[in-house]
Amino acid sequence: MRSLVLIGHGSHLNGESALAVYRYAELIRERGLYDEVIEGYWKEEPSLRQVLKTTASTDVTVIPLFISEGYFTEVVIPRELGLGHQGPVPPGGVARVIGGRTVRYTLPYGVHPSMTDVILARAREVLPDATAEDTALIVLGHGTTRNENSNKIVYHNAELLRQGGQFAEVHALFLDEDPKVGTWPEVVKAPRVVVVPFFASEGWHTLETIPEDMGLSGEVTVFPENPAGAQTVYYARPVGTHPRVADVILHLAEEASGAAGAGGDLERGHEHAWQVFLKQAQVGLRMGEVLIRPDSGVFEMRHALDEGLPGGDLKTLVTPEGVRDHIRFDDGGDHRPVHTLRNLPRGWRAVLSDHDLRRAVHYLYPAVVEETYAHTCHALRATPWPTTARRQTGIYARVQKATPEQVEHVAGDICKSCLRTRLWAGHKLPKTFLDGVPGGIPCAEACTLLVAEIREEVAGKRGQGAGH
Ligand code: SF4
Repeated sequence: MRSLVLIGHGSHLNGESALAVYRYAELIRERGLYDEVIEGYWKEEPSLRQVLKTTASTDVTVIPLFISEGYFTEVVIPRELGLGHQGPVPPGGVARVIGGRTVRYTLPYGVHPSMTDVILARAREVLPDATAEDTALIVLGHGTTRNENSNKIVYHNAELLRQGGQFAEVHALFLDEDPKVGTWPEVVKAPRVVVVPFFASEGWHTLETIPEDMGLSGEVTVFPENPAGAQTVYYARPVGTHPRVADVILHLAEEASGAAGAGGDLERGHEHAWQVFLKQAQVGLRMGEVLIRPDSGVFEMRHALDEGLPGGDLKTLVTPEGVRDHIRFDDGGDHRPVHTLRNLPRGWRAVLSDHDLRRAVHYLYPAVVEETYAHTCHALRATPWPTTARRQTGIYARVQKATPEQVEHVAGDICKSCLRTRLWAGHKLPKTFLDGVPGGIPCAEACTLLVAEIREEVAGKRGQGAGH
């Protein structure tokens, strides 16, 4: 049995941020090569601290869905997963045994050698008849003076494509460092120019900053009076959204587990947790804001406040992904990065098999079954705030300066809307939803939303809408 975990950045504010990870998870799931494909995030749930607990097998491969090596792939993700590794990840990845699971952590997909083919595929999409006689290729990276690794891979791919000889010229240009993308009319001589953004997703940079810096007006823009003469620019979509990235991810995963393809067993603690949960679901269960009831050989799940409403009055969902997509936003249309906040939308019901019920509950309340079961077995370890604060780096290191009063003030504000009970602050949870108390869900550690809010408080900016 094998589990594959795909890690994305996620966002506290933007519900679209996780979509690329969902899409790749679905593409890989369809191939059936792994027993499960699970998504995890830095700023959404399941969080990096929880995600390994949600895997069903003892053989886990974790792939960061990032375009380049850097702070997140070398510092934040390994630290939060508890890998005991910091710094550059070797080509074969890092393997550790964590809580009875063998966990392999790989390089990000963006540095895999086959990304050169993805750049080429994107270039051919926008200009199928690009030639070595009249077409230049610009591989466009973000670049940052803080992380030289992020440009290394752009230069490397540009060099490989130059050697491939399919273009008259190949240039590596950047948004945030020299050589900057705005200088392109001075460096590119060919009359036709293909620009491929080496970016993970479509967003502010690909839709606004790059076109603005280059003077583009759409997919094809003609510049009649450039220094090199008339030039036409063909603007491709970012590499990170190309379906072939799913193949790149699978290559990475297979390389990490070796040609023989390792395999593990069912993780026993995880399986016990779900068996206990399913037994309760078979007689009807209220968990957080939902009701789960057996219904003619399947299960029905709905918002507890919709109890008694005729099924025809509710939107019926029939897949775990349908549940996931429906509950990502509250009734006001706002993104829900923390799923145990009491803002589950109403007006839906899900009809699911027992297998799909597990997956749907995983999407609805990630890690809640595993952590609650562990709590009932006295096996859930709480992480006190000072430990969480000391672990923070980068822009979040500032939370180490928060006074206990500031932490309590912000937690009182944020956590009062959450179903979870703050074990990390010393609060007690004698009974859980598994004992019939619907809101009895433990919180073992401050979530990233709270950490971000405490950072704003320390900076004196809380409530000013500073970004997370
Ligand atoms: Fe909920 Fe607060 Fe725990 Fe975050 S820290 S999961 S808001 S109880």
